[in-house]
Amino acid sequence: MTAHENYIKAKEKLLAKYYQNYSDAASKKKLTAHVTGFLPFEVLVAMDIFPFYPEGYATRACNTDMGDELVFEAEKAGVSRDLCAFSTCALGSMYSDKGPQGGMIAPDLLISSAYTCGAHVPWWELMHQHYKVPLFIIDGPVLCADYEERHIDFYISQTKELISFLEKETGKDFDEDRFEKVVELSSDACEYFHKVIELRKNSPSPVGFRQLFADMFGLVNVTGEQETLDFYKAFYEETLEKKENNIGVAEHEEYRLIWDNLPIYHDMDLFDYFESKGMVFVYETLLKEYFAKGLDKSDPFRGLAKKYLTGWTNRRLDRKIEIVEEAVKEYRVDGIVVFENKGCRGYSTGQLDVAKSLKEKIGIPNMIVEGSMADPGSHDPNKFRSMVDMFHEVLKSQSAGGR
Ligand code: SF4
Repeated sequence: MTAHENYIKAKEKLLAKYYQNYSDAASKKKLTAHVTGFLPFEVLVAMDIFPFYPEGYATRACNTDMGDELVFEAEKAGVSRDLCAFSTCALGSMYSDKGPQGGMIAPDLLISSAYTCGAHVPWWELMHQHYKVPLFIIDGPVLCADYEERHIDFYISQTKELISFLEKETGKDFDEDRFEKVVELSSDACEYFHKVIELRKNSPSPVGFRQLFADMFGLVNVTGEQETLDFYKAFYEETLEKKENNIGVAEHEEYRLIWDNLPIYHDMDLFDYFESKGMVFVYETLLKEYFAKGLDKSDPFRGLAKKYLTGWTNRRLDRKIEIVEEAVKEYRVDGIVVFENKGCRGYSTGQLDVAKSLKEKIGIPNMIVEGSMADPGSHDPNKFRSMVDMFHEVLKSQSAGGR
């Protein structure tokens, strides 16, 4: 079997596992908890609870062109479209029972987090009012510097409170052995994803933006399963083979770029447009800083605390600048595209400062565009493509003159 055939087969098994879990949850053979991004999913998986991720569901709604309709449904129910665009999509689905797979499944439990984004708690409170099922909010420090031991200790105590809540609500005891196994599988899968991302340091880059954002699906939606680890191993082996055979994602890689923010889920063709012009994304803060992280398997609780407290939205500005500067050097970046995303204000904070610093300190040009990752109403695809053309000219003149 070739590396590509192995990748396809592993992907089919991964999706089959997800749909098995999903159908068990929908038919109530398995408990479901609606979870925010970036909380310790591994604890839920170890307790045989299906973690359903409404933010991920919103991306699927956008990919299937249902985003506009769901945002409209949310507005009808009194939710402003100026809030987090994923929340308006998912709440629109909740209030109308519309959306991919016939609408969002109903949860048995709701788990929110108070440290990654200000939208999570009010969003989960609206779901709490609607579904009338128990809600737990995991707390954590909002960091203005690197984490300290007391932050880790606090997060561990919160994770243990979450476990007590789940034990009470499910009537089941927490199984430490199973938890350690789930953490090990989750960590190993993330490490393979990290290795895939590292291969983009090669020129031409062997893997593209669309594939990476599609294939991060398993890390979030099928956490800690054997099928997930098998898939990321196959993904790595396929990408390594492409690198060794000098196969790039673009026909002709001309410029290497950073994309700063979430993708534009309702216009993913845009990223093909960049590639068609030889402009290849080789680094995104979202993939690297949230998902491509292994865990300290010798101490799973500490490992989870370190992982989940260091998401991009919980980092101070000067550290963000350092991280992106390092990426520019390691991935040999020619320019940065700053997507000022009105749909996710938390992620957009500090973007302009990062771009300004790159420009002033190392002469990296930037393209700054506004929009929303999940609300097509505010997006003009033609205007966006014209800006890509202009940025291509800027990069051309920059490389002619030297940085
Ligand atoms: S604003 Fe951004 S981080 Fe917050 S819930 Fe929405 S998508 Fe997630």
